[in-house]
Amino acid sequence: MTKMTLPPAFIDALPVLEKIEAAGFEAYFVGGSVRDTLLGKPIHDVDIATSAFPAEIKALFDRTVDTGIQHGTVMILDHGVGYEVTTFRTESTYTDFRRPDDVTFVRELREDLKRRDFTINALALRADGELVDLFDGQTDLANGVIRAVGEARERFTEDALRMMRALRFSAQLDFAIEAQTQQALQALAPNLTRISVERIQVELEKLLQASSAKRGWQALVVSGVLAYLPGNVDWLSVADVIAADLKQARLTSVAGVWAYLVVRLGLTRAEISDFLRAWKVSRAVLQTAQAVADFYRTEQRDAWTYYLVAKDAATLLEVLAVWPIVPIEVAKKQLAALPIQDKAELALTGKDIIQAGVLQPGPQLGQTLAQLETDVVLGKVANDYDALMAHVGGKG
Ligand code: ATP
Ligand code: MG
Repeated sequence: MTKMTLPPAFIDALPVLEKIEAAGFEAYFVGGSVRDTLLGKPIHDVDIATSAFPAEIKALFDRTVDTGIQHGTVMILDHGVGYEVTTFRTESTYTDFRRPDDVTFVRELREDLKRRDFTINALALRADGELVDLFDGQTDLANGVIRAVGEARERFTEDALRMMRALRFSAQLDFAIEAQTQQALQALAPNLTRISVERIQVELEKLLQASSAKRGWQALVVSGVLAYLPGNVDWLSVADVIAADLKQARLTSVAGVWAYLVVRLGLTRAEISDFLRAWKVSRAVLQTAQAVADFYRTEQRDAWTYYLVAKDAATLLEVLAVWPIVPIEVAKKQLAALPIQDKAELALTGKDIIQAGVLQPGPQLGQTLAQLETDVVLGKVANDYDALMAHVGGKG
């Protein structure tokens, strides 16, 4: 049995585990936080698993919230930050390849660890630092291997999302996918179409933002899973070029991921709308992706081209780092040189023009302001009250 020194995030949570243990139940740290601690990586959320049933947990602590009570999860608020505590459970009969029909609470840790997806995610750590590793997760961690717990084919048949998770962990951890697990991916890739888009979306976004995104992408291609991703597009035609791009730089945001994909897929505006709606991405991301795609589609890029994407400059630069259709330094200079980023920054307003008696309210005023905006952006006139007033024929 391995004994571990607990990192600070676990030490802070110890009162929760100790209280559960003092009441005669078992409690362990589980999941990603244990895996990441063993890898020496920072941990983001501390998950706790226990033999106590939800009602028993709620009786032990003063302040709890039923965050996922039907799955056995209760949030405990007694000790600083909230801690999610989940009762050991098994998941039986997956008839739709994605959600267990029902969960059964159990008292044995082993049963709970058995239903977890990969050996590296099936580790449990006790308050005293003792590590429970029933499936050789430590060996796989040391060797950099993603291996399903038990029979990979069974596990992916129970829940097809696990296939995306395998690929995503490969990208995040720079791990290889073990042979049986890989074979199961190849055999069961078509089942991915039964998984909700929202769940696949999250995994693809994580995969493409991972430090080893190229590895994850190649695993997605080789496993055949790529062909079953949502969106009615020809993924395979861009598979190689995407792998090559991902060597250049990292994508670092959700908007960056989608903007990059639509430009690489070479989609039209209408196709982008359909594609991103099929993926159920937010409106804000859709708009940003359209702006970046417009920029890529343009043949001559002048100040106006940069102005149109100024609001989305961060995403543009992110995508340019991966696929520099213009050198990134050129783009940065052009963006920095823009006299204004938005028409609200014009030093002359419609009100000013009316008050000066140059124009009456009406369509012509709108046209004049639009022309001013273009002329300022293109550097034909300075963004200065007097210069702009003179430009529209007023006295200033
Ligand atoms: P991350 O660092 O992304 O949070 P994680 O391993 O903590 O990684 P979560 O999605 O937070 O992943 O899930 C927590 C744990 O629950 C996992 O480590 C794994 O043990 C288990 N788990 C999550 N999703 C599944 C699934 N689809 N099938 C089986 N076990 C799962
Ligand atoms: Mg987690």
